[in-house]
Amino acid sequence: MSETRSAGRTMSEQANIPARIEAKPFESPTDDVMRGAARWEIKCLDHGFIALVDAMPRLVPHGQTADSAIVQAARVSYGQGTKQVHEDRGLIRYLMRHRHTTPFEMLEFKFHIAMPIFVARQWIRHRTANVNEYSARYSILPDRFYRPTLESVRKQSASNRQGGEETFKVDAAADEAKTAQDFLEYLSRAEALYQDYLGLTEHGVSRELARTGLPVSVYTEWYWKCDLHNILRFLGLRMDPHAQLEIREYAQAMHDLVAPVVPLTMEAWRDYEMDSVRLTRLEVEALRSSIKGGAAAPITEGNKREQAEWAAKARAFGLEPLPKT
Ligand SMILES: Cc1cc2nc3c(=O)[nH]c(=O)nc-3n(C[C@H](O)[C@H](O)[C@H](O)COP(=O)(O)OP(=O)(O)OC[C@H]3O[C@@H](n4cnc5c(N)ncnc54)[C@H](O)[C@@H]3O)c2cc1C
Repeated sequence: MSETRSAGRTMSEQANIPARIEAKPFESPTDDVMRGAARWEIKCLDHGFIALVDAMPRLVPHGQTADSAIVQAARVSYGQGTKQVHEDRGLIRYLMRHRHTTPFEMLEFKFHIAMPIFVARQWIRHRTANVNEYSARYSILPDRFYRPTLESVRKQSASNRQGGEETFKVDAAADEAKTAQDFLEYLSRAEALYQDYLGLTEHGVSRELARTGLPVSVYTEWYWKCDLHNILRFLGLRMDPHAQLEIREYAQAMHDLVAPVVPLTMEAWRDYEMDSVRLTRLEVEALRSSIKGGAAAPITEGNKREQAEWAAKARAFGLEPLPKT
């Protein structure tokens, strides 16, 4: 397609782009996936937030969502083969079910996040993102520390060595209230170190050393950019009930920011990943012997291919699949 001309000048000329670059217009009107906003922000914990600040693609054909970029990428790889899976939702669900993941890597999301350092330490383990963090060598850390409320101080879990679960009872009669209160006072003593931190930097101690006395409840900030495939991995791990409550709050907020941009993908992810169950061979055997034959009802939704996939799984459990009526 040749360049469009307006008032006798090509798009490249108008935009002051070198002549050898052919600037081609969109084939149809476009929508901004963030509806023209500079950022979409959700508050987290007591002083934190997660904000979606950019997305790729930012512009999509009018009336479509950024899911269209996944479909576009998949159609490059399948070519004519996509005639069988021609509907966008069906194609996205097929890709998700069969872990054809690279089309989901074509989309990127950039977030600005403020979180306590102990949350950041868990977050940074997700190595496939690009991160740029606030430098406490260069600048003074702001006076922001995470404190749960008295009612939300959690006890050590008896069943999970890595987690907390029920909260202390904090009504006036309960002895447990004192322990929760003691914990908050312990945090207060740690936060009081902030004045020492400031004073020592004013007396010439380097910021890079002065910060080492601050607790991990102090807030940091970073820009975090990741492709959609790895965001879904992050969400799968960090929205899970085994993840620490504080990072779960951010993961849920990240999910809520991404979902309106790629609604079809998030629906497929919930159906085939997040709310699905992965069974071991031993569990399959146990299930098979508990069921001891019988019939498997067809799945409520799904095309012929998905029904056939379910039939194969049902047989693995020793069930005879019933046809869809
Ligand atoms: C509930 C929970 C408890 C945890 N407890 C602990 C703990 O006690 N101690 C601890 O140290 N960690 C712990 N972790 C962190 C965990 O082990 C992972 O490091 C973290 O969840 C990141 O997961 P990931 O490797 O899939 O993510 P990513 O780093 O984003 O990796 C995504 C994928 O890319 C691959 N990949 C990334 N980088 C490379 C590379 N350089 N070479 C090859 N492949 C690569 C990974 O194998 C993975 O398949 C915990 C995580 C959770 C969710």
